[in-house]
Amino acid sequence: MALGSDGVRVTMESGLTARDRVGVQDFVLLENFTSEAAFIENLRRRFRENLIYTYIGPVLVSVNPYRDLQIYSRQHMERYRGVSFYEVPPHLFAVADTVYRALRTERRDQAVMISGESGAGKTEATKRLLQFYAETCPAPERGGAVRDRLLQSNPVLEAFGNAKTLRNDNSSRFGKYMDVQFDFKGAPVGGHILSYLLEKSRVVHQNHGERNFHIFYQLLEGGEEETLRRLGLERNPQSYLYLVKGQCAKVSSINDKSDWKVVHKALTVIDFTEDEVEDLLSIVASVLHLGNIHFAADEESNAQVTTENQLKYLTRLLSVDGSTLREALTHRKIIAKGEELLSPLNLEQAAYARDALAKAVYSRTFSWLVEKINRSLASKVRAGSGLLRGGREVEAGPGFEQFCINYCNEKLQQLFIELTLKSEQEEYEAEGIAWEPVLYFNNKVICDLVEEKFKGIISILDEECLRPGEATDLTFLEKLEDTVKHHPHFLTHKLADQRTRKSLGRGEFRLLHYAGEVTYSVTGFLDKNNDLLFRNLKETMCSSKNPIMSQCFDRSELSDKKRPETVATQFKMSLLQLVEILQSKEPAYVRCIKPNDAKQPGRFDEVLIRHQVKYLGLMENLRVRRAGFAYRRKYEAFLQRSGRVPLAWPTWQNPVSTKNRKVGQARWCMPVIPLPAGSLCSGQLPFFSNTATKIQAA
Ligand code: ATP
Ligand code: MG
Repeated sequence: MALGSDGVRVTMESGLTARDRVGVQDFVLLENFTSEAAFIENLRRRFRENLIYTYIGPVLVSVNPYRDLQIYSRQHMERYRGVSFYEVPPHLFAVADTVYRALRTERRDQAVMISGESGAGKTEATKRLLQFYAETCPAPERGGAVRDRLLQSNPVLEAFGNAKTLRNDNSSRFGKYMDVQFDFKGAPVGGHILSYLLEKSRVVHQNHGERNFHIFYQLLEGGEEETLRRLGLERNPQSYLYLVKGQCAKVSSINDKSDWKVVHKALTVIDFTEDEVEDLLSIVASVLHLGNIHFAADEESNAQVTTENQLKYLTRLLSVDGSTLREALTHRKIIAKGEELLSPLNLEQAAYARDALAKAVYSRTFSWLVEKINRSLASKVRAGSGLLRGGREVEAGPGFEQFCINYCNEKLQQLFIELTLKSEQEEYEAEGIAWEPVLYFNNKVICDLVEEKFKGIISILDEECLRPGEATDLTFLEKLEDTVKHHPHFLTHKLADQRTRKSLGRGEFRLLHYAGEVTYSVTGFLDKNNDLLFRNLKETMCSSKNPIMSQCFDRSELSDKKRPETVATQFKMSLLQLVEILQSKEPAYVRCIKPNDAKQPGRFDEVLIRHQVKYLGLMENLRVRRAGFAYRRKYEAFLQRSGRVPLAWPTWQNPVSTKNRKVGQARWCMPVIPLPAGSLCSGQLPFFSNTATKIQAA
């Protein structure tokens, strides 16, 4: 049996078999494969032995060990290179190598989809994969720096896009899809990052026990005296209102000072000039100063800026005119019948405008950063893949944001169902193979509820956003109630029965997601979907002489008569784009599991794990895997590989592909879906082999 050592039955001195001690390395080998208890027990045994990886066929299940297991060294990489999946114990590097070889031999784009809940280990897995490719792939003939850039882009993105949350000390607060391009020799020559859904509300507010984005603390802790002086910053994070809300500026697992050094160095690797670093830091500092802008009401209850010093720094750091900025922070410009009117803001409105500016400045800078990294990663062999468009980010606070993320999870779950459970079983049927159907819940009904034209939740929300002054969050809820009242996955206080009503507030609606029910508060839905930044604030920022700001705020925004897309619609479109990309690739799956909520090594919380096994659909996946045909190839590919027909292999060298062989279609991609506290899990479920015809049918 060509199994790794832990899959073989060997009697140990203690009388225990290896299988008793460490379980099976592929769940397919479980005797009682329909038993969830047996599944969990197998995970537990392996976890106890520090064996964090287990397969379901080609799908890798990974349990976060919360400790450094020393399993990602160069020796480990070598062990997995060029070796068949089942000859070695399960490992992320086995997936990495298999994907890479498939890319080279079959010339099909590959996608590694890493999913799991917050803190399950998605980001770590991504980093290890990148490291594997950076260290083991041949160096490209030209543009060798791409390898370093691929690695160094990560600390920078994490500094600006990650934060300490209750669930994860290094939680990614944005979705990331990374595309790595290899040349015909298999050397990495370029990359592209697509980011979406940056949680920009975190810039101005953090829940208790959580922090703002790492970069703020890194700069304050690690920045040189001279730099801080220039930026007008004090070292103590307590001095900044945007940093004190979570009351946990210091985190024992994080060393902001040394992280700052890494980030600073990484910026130079990804082509930042000294001036650009200065410009970037000016923006980071300006956000902190903005948070400290205070207002007082004058006799007419209009807001006046009282913090002159902060305003002075802001003016300088953002390179804008001081009086224009002051006016923009305390007034709103309205254009009515071609005439400009300035209307003063009250205290609440001014605070709203200030926070909206901070969020816009930060999130646009983040998008700029992603594009900047993309320029530095762009393949020097053939610039740009043309595959992905620029990053897109959306703002959201609790309710609305969670709604968007859970919609994303539903879409990914739907993709899994389409790719695996549904098409798999349809294929068996079509080929007349005796088959005991595996039942599963198809969540298309929920996707439709959210995204359908005219009667989906997003459409109704957008419609309400078109009635400024009249529509409110509550009229949106009423309209929802009217339009989707009979939907089995939708509930509100009004629609609920007596018993359920108690658990639903009047301003709430409940969705029965595939992984469980979530109750959303409608408060802020309209506002966040509109994502309003007052016109005069935009104008002010368009006039900024800070080169990054002037790229982030474009004058065309001001003259654009067309109503910009709402946040939810933008997000919906970027998701459709992501799904399209993923559909065009051969998927590999890494399913990450979080073993406990305490972020501690050695703790296996069964309830928590069982829940994840459920919503990740691992049992269904195993059942289909056990019942189905494990290996399948197209006739042609099979014949080629078995040597029955003349071999044009490797195909990279045949005349047809030579024409395009510079980068070819060979790309390797991985989306990493972050999940904020309390959200459902990402919906990527495992998948096996490819969709071609089975050899048995030949
Ligand atoms: P989020 O959705 O919040 O971004 P995530 O799934 O990306 O979460 P990670 O940041 O990858 O989670 O992992 C959380 C922490 O768990 C890491 O900072 C690290 O301490 C630990 N960890 C994760 N995977 C591993 C691993 N393979 N080995 C050792 N520690 C790990
Ligand atoms: Mg992460």
